[in-house]
Amino acid sequence: MSVAEKVEAEGGRDFIRDIVADDLASGRHKSVVTRFPPEPNGYLHIGHAKSICLNFGVAQEFGGRCHLRFDDTNPTREEQEYIDAIEADVRWLGFDWGKHLYHASDYFERLYGWAEALIRAGKAYVDDQTQDEMRVTRGTLTEAGQNSPYRDRTVDENLDLFRRMRAGEFPNGARVLRARIDMGSGNINLRDPVLYRILHATHPRTSDTWKIYPSYDYAHGQSDAIEGITHSICTLEFEDHRPLYDWFIENLPVPSRPRQYEFARLNLSYTVLSKRVLNALVKGDHVAGWDDPRMPTLAGLRRRGVPPQALRDFAKRIGVAKANSLVDLGLLEFSIREALNRSAQRRMAVLRPLKVVITNYEAVDEELDAVNHPDDASAGTRRVKFGRELFIERDDFMENPPKKFFRLSPGTEVRLRYAYFITCREVVKDPAGNITELRCTYDPATRGGNAPDGRKVKATIHWVSAADSVPAEVRLYNPLFAKPEPDVTNFANDLNPNSLEVLTDARVEPALVADNSPAPVQFERLGYFARDKDSAPGKPVFNRTAGLRDSYAKAT
Ligand code: ATP
Ligand code: MG
Repeated sequence: MSVAEKVEAEGGRDFIRDIVADDLASGRHKSVVTRFPPEPNGYLHIGHAKSICLNFGVAQEFGGRCHLRFDDTNPTREEQEYIDAIEADVRWLGFDWGKHLYHASDYFERLYGWAEALIRAGKAYVDDQTQDEMRVTRGTLTEAGQNSPYRDRTVDENLDLFRRMRAGEFPNGARVLRARIDMGSGNINLRDPVLYRILHATHPRTSDTWKIYPSYDYAHGQSDAIEGITHSICTLEFEDHRPLYDWFIENLPVPSRPRQYEFARLNLSYTVLSKRVLNALVKGDHVAGWDDPRMPTLAGLRRRGVPPQALRDFAKRIGVAKANSLVDLGLLEFSIREALNRSAQRRMAVLRPLKVVITNYEAVDEELDAVNHPDDASAGTRRVKFGRELFIERDDFMENPPKKFFRLSPGTEVRLRYAYFITCREVVKDPAGNITELRCTYDPATRGGNAPDGRKVKATIHWVSAADSVPAEVRLYNPLFAKPEPDVTNFANDLNPNSLEVLTDARVEPALVADNSPAPVQFERLGYFARDKDSAPGKPVFNRTAGLRDSYAKAT
């Protein structure tokens, strides 16, 4: 099978993969080289995961390679913490850049040299206009810009000023280097874009070497060319920058000719994917940090218990298109449930306990067999202790049930999962009228869950032993935003006040505590849960990773 056929067979074909397949088939490229170019000014989010899965995925599928390149051209916003987190997150997602770790700052000297070459060719000049003046003279979408009064400086004057900019002779903002293209262009990006600005700032890698820093537009394509990137894949908002990308490649003695392709960024309902807003959520204490399980960051999703496989599946499901759209948060939940349904072992836990006393139960230390995974016999079984006192879920009981309520109520019989049939005989209340305990009887003949006389019950409920279960804290998460499309300028107004619900009285099977594994489990009938890093010895904390059903189409 050819590489292209293999990709086709695996599904996941899209216009980017079509272009790559064509370029390989026509011989335009011998192998494909892509890159993922994060700016280290925040943590990666699920939108970045889409881009990572695309760039690394294409490289893998077509037998090429993908570089990790830090786009570190703005030292005022970048931090080592972000660099480390980005590397860890890309690895966690399941991708490997091998030895191909690069930084735009690795190329600062070459980029500088090429800028001098542009000056010598009359294609760049030093502009002394203020930022405000430049904004005004840039024109608008309907009006051409005006040439700067400094546009016709001589080559020597430009070279002298540019070298003195580099030497640190001028304060921040005093001058810029601009490409000399066309102030009348219909594309504003071609109206003499800025190549360098003066910035006296310490850079995480180059320290105080540089007093001038290249713009994104000037650094990006040239970095691609230096690394031999064949397909420079970016999001749609860079479509209008492509003529500038190409202008640089055509006007500089670059070692290769990469091409830029744009795809639609991921927008997810009830979610904001903007590093500026995510940063503000953290700085404003709206969340407990970049890895708060409500955050759409990879660190947050990981802490919540989302397996990387679920994100890769999600990326495949949403595909890659050329038009922007809004993806339903339900699709992410679906992908999480799909992955966890396969991998997560089953356990029993009670989130809001109600005590049950089985009045006719006399046995001691009885253990029952519970299945670890209904679809995977190799996961085996475990022993769970039964007892005279149990906890069941408070909402599995109703004193005055409506017609369609089949779970426990006075006089009805239900099955306790893996155990026995029980019948509720009496409801015990405190002086205020709150139900504190149920008195039930069990049928010893129904051990394992079936009655020898063939009688049926309409419900099976989960439980834990009162004596053996362990107290736990459980954190339930709902979307961080209350609106499907939050207003990013006023995001605080749209926050969901019920995004976190903490249950402090939950009880879980001892097996969940004996085993310190962070691997998510399914709490039977409740959802998927993973141990949080806030767990302490004897006091586990669990995060709800996802519910069992689509919470956007809630059924009763
Ligand atoms: P922000 O706009 O939130 O600051 P960014 O796009 O500037 O994010 P970068 O670090 O520059 O963040 O992004 C690295 C790569 O990830 C870029 O190629 C960018 O196009 C891509 N990317 C960022 N956000 C998304 C998204 N929501 N969907 C798909 N790709 C994205
Ligand atoms: Mg960016």
